[in-house]
Amino acid sequence: MRKPLIVGNWKMNGSLDDNKALLDGFKAGIGNVKVAEVAVCAPYIYIPDVAEQLTGTPIAWGGQNMSIEAKGAFTGEISTAMLLDFSCKYVIIGHSERRTLYGEDDALVAQKFAVAHKAGLIPILCIGETLDEREKAVTEEVVARQIKAVIDEVGIASLGDGVIAYEPVWAIGTGKTASPDQAQDVHAFIRGQLAAHDKAVADKIRIQYGGSMNAGNAKELLAMQDIDGGLIGGASLKVEDFLAICTAAG
Ligand code: PEP
Repeated sequence: MRKPLIVGNWKMNGSLDDNKALLDGFKAGIGNVKVAEVAVCAPYIYIPDVAEQLTGTPIAWGGQNMSIEAKGAFTGEISTAMLLDFSCKYVIIGHSERRTLYGEDDALVAQKFAVAHKAGLIPILCIGETLDEREKAVTEEVVARQIKAVIDEVGIASLGDGVIAYEPVWAIGTGKTASPDQAQDVHAFIRGQLAAHDKAVADKIRIQYGGSMNAGNAKELLAMQDIDGGLIGGASLKVEDFLAICTAAG
């Protein structure tokens, strides 16, 4: 039985005051979340403050990105050791905004997965097709390629220690959600790809859905057999919406 995992991706949003109000709200409501594991991935600079506010609560935290380098002359970068200094549990890897806006390719994403895993962080590997790719009916080829890059780099067992987030790029921040059946089809395909290497890993790994999941559509999506949680952008910045998604997961 896979425990659902709901992760808020704050992206480049927040302020000390806004974060406090948000986290106060989450802490007040988290007692109603009976089944799901919950985490928030904050902008780097707020992670120490988030850690302070969430220590001792059931809510974990993480980074939205990281460097493959350990230390040195890499201006603007953050290492896994720095994330671990502030007790991050998760790190998002290969978000489509990183891939599209910052040129992260499959090879770099796979290296990031390897470095995060080796350091003891739980990588949340984002994969998914663009609108153009969906219209060309190459969704399965795209996600298969993205998964293969990581398996080739770290091996199937290490991939199994992470989390996959299937995020159709056309659904991220657009208000267009994949239908439960559309999402389930791709999730089942992803699990099948993993099962071809190792059935136990395929059965164990959590595959989140991400892309305009909200309080209104979460229950239906999360009810699908191969959807094991959500990576939530916009709705993770609203107390009631995020908590509603967390409780919809159980
Ligand atoms: C995301 O940033 O991973 C995401 C799914 O965003 P949104 O929920 O806003 O579509």
